[in-house]
Order: sequence, then C-alpha cells, then structure tokens
Amino acid sequence: MGSKGDNVAVCNMKLERLLSMKGGKGQDSYANNSQAQAMHARSMLHLLEETLDNVHLNSSASPPPFTAVDLGCSSGANTVHIIDFIVKHISKRFDLAGIDPPEFTAFFSDLPSNDFNTLFQLLPPLVTNSCMEECLAADGNRSYFVAGVPGSFYRRLFPARTIDFFHSAFSLHWLSQVPESVTDRRSAAYNKGRVFIHGAGEKTTTAYKRQFQADLAEFLRARAAEVKRGGSMFLVCLGRTSVDPTDQGGAGLLFGTHFQDAWDDLVREGLVAAEKRDGFNIPVYAPSLQDFKEVVEANGSFAIEKLVVYKGGSPLVVSEPDDASEVGRAFASSCRSVAGVLVEAHIGEELSNELFSRIERRATSHAKDVLVNLQFFHIVASLSFT
Ligand code: SAH
Repeated sequence: MGSKGDNVAVCNMKLERLLSMKGGKGQDSYANNSQAQAMHARSMLHLLEETLDNVHLNSSASPPPFTAVDLGCSSGANTVHIIDFIVKHISKRFDLAGIDPPEFTAFFSDLPSNDFNTLFQLLPPLVTNSCMEECLAADGNRSYFVAGVPGSFYRRLFPARTIDFFHSAFSLHWLSQVPESVTDRRSAAYNKGRVFIHGAGEKTTTAYKRQFQADLAEFLRARAAEVKRGGSMFLVCLGRTSVDPTDQGGAGLLFGTHFQDAWDDLVREGLVAAEKRDGFNIPVYAPSLQDFKEVVEANGSFAIEKLVVYKGGSPLVVSEPDDASEVGRAFASSCRSVAGVLVEAHIGEELSNELFSRIERRATSHAKDVLVNLQFFHIVASLSFT
C-alpha cells in the first residue's frame, strides 16, 4: 500500500480507491472472518426467497440470460453461496412454471481493491449445456457464467435494463466517504477525540446521516436505470433499533468501545498524536428503518415489498465462549478484517499491530460483556421495479 502513514484514509484520498475487507485467507482475512455474516444471511433466506418469488420470469422463446448481481461481494465464500441459492431458486421457479430455463449470468461486484483473485479461486467449476439441469441439483458445480465488476455501487455499473436481480448484503452501511466536515477542525461537526460516531455530538452524527442518505439515493438512482422491468432487489445492511443516530447499536459497540479505547491508549502512550487519531473516522453508518425508508420513498422508482429491522445476532463465532482469550481474539480479528485496511493506510502496519493487540487485550478482559452485548441488527429491504 503506497500511502502508509499519510492522513489519507478518510479525507483526501477517495475512499473507494482504498476500501476493501482484508483479502487472502489468513487469520484476519474477511474470508476467514465472515462465518457470522454467513449465519445471519442463512437466517434471512426465507426473506430472500420471498423477494425472488416476485421476480418476473421471461417466458419468450429465446430469452436473454437471467442476470443476477451481488453488490459488495467481498472475497469470502458467502457471495458464492448466495448466488448459487439465487440461481437454484429461480431455476426451480422456471421448472414449476413449465418454462425452459434460460442461461444464467452472475456478476460479482465490489470496489477495485477487493481481492477478486481469492474470490475467483472459490468458484466451483462451470458445467454447461446438456448437463445443466443435473448440475443444478448437484453440489460442487456451477451452472452460471460469472464475471467480476470493479466499481462503486454508488454509481452506474451495468448497462440500462440488463439486470433481473440485485443482491447486496452487509455493504450499504459503508459510506462513499467520511463527510468532510467531520475531519475539519474548524467545523462544528468535527469529531474531536473519536474515531466513530457512536456517542458523538449531534452535528457530527447529522453529517453522517446526510452522507448515508445521499449515498443511498445515488445507489437507488443507479439501480433504477440498470434493473429490468419486473426485476427486484434484496438489500441487507447494518441497522439500528434506536431512533437516535448517536446510538449505533452493534456497529457502535464494535467501533465505539474497545476500538476507540485502544486508539486512546496509543495517544496516551505517545505513539499517535491526538490529531492523527481525530483524523481517522470509520466510514460506516447504521441507519434506522426511518432513515432508510425516507430515501426509498423519495427516490420513488421501487415499490417496497418489505422493509424490516432484523436481529442478526453476534458478529463473533467462538468455539469456547468461556475462553476469554478466544473471545478477545475473535473480536480483534473481526474488527481487523473489516477496518484493518483503513487503519493501516492511516497509521501504517506497525502501529496498526499495536492498535489491534490493545483491542484484543481490552476485549479479552471484557469477554462476557462482548459476547452478550455485541449484537447486530440489519435493515432488510425487498424492493421491486415495475
Ligand atoms: N456481501 C459479503 C461481504 C460484505 S463486506 C458478505 O455477505 O459476506 C462489505 C463489502 O462492501 C466489502 O467488500 C466492501 O469493499 C464493499 N463495499 C463498501 N463500499 C462499497 C462501494 N461503494 N461499492 C462497492 N462495494 C463496496
């Protein structure tokens, strides 16, 4: 990473050039720290199914491929399982309707720094043509064509009216940028002393909320141009149950407690200047249902089939819940897999190691509390385009 140590992660340099979950398959990688997301996604499959049941099936004689997209796919196995599920479900619907299924195409999309290589290596082999139908039933094979699409989902990614189904899980809470006022010392929204908005001042949280709503508006505008008539979207992102945006729920506990305290440790120990810490902000906003709904309604292109807050559970997967050091390690790894790249860009790898070892120590000494109270809620939106 070329920009180590510069104050670039969250202000000057475009976040979209930099942001990614930790690639590869190592201990702190996203591929190795996304089992909880997998579990949360599994618990919502019935909602995904309902959305898929709404998608229009093209019954013309030689239909174009059925095209599904996963936005914010990252570099773990979750996206492959979801696309597989979508293709199988839609294929079954074609069968039940007595229509010959078309070919299927799946696009895996994420920011350009995403580790697409690791993702592509996880794809099962493609089997086409005559054995397509048997393959749909057989695990370990892939019955759809794939491509990776690099780019921000806050802009256009596909040609107009080409996509049947958009899926996006655990991604839309990532902002396109930290609002400039939040890192501007002269602004009333300056997030002094903090690295996240959990517990921050009202002006700071309002700036974040505005950014989230502006971003979501761009997202919907782009998708409304790309989706086919009769197509649908299934969107899941971190959400909160409180109306007050300074209470960021699970995201607040992840980035507003031990993560915050560990930054403060580095400042107290003289390893990081206070202003350097204050220049770092996690570009995440967990919306309330109302925050989300306002934007969908203002956009007006999509009908809301379902919009709910769903309890996902803990983001940590631990085999020995009584083992405090395992809980501490899981907390630090989980934090690092999603925010490590940004932290390293801001303070470099060495200080990043210092930070995450303090996070681990702190989470270990509060293991019980971490296990019980760190719970994620998700906004789940099923939207159709008519
Ligand atoms: N959907 C996956 C991964 C979620 S991690 C799963 O269910 O496990 C969140 C992903 O969103 C990351 O890979 C991140 O790079 C991506 N992301 C964040 N902002 C984005 C943007 N503006 N455009 C595209 N992808 C983005």
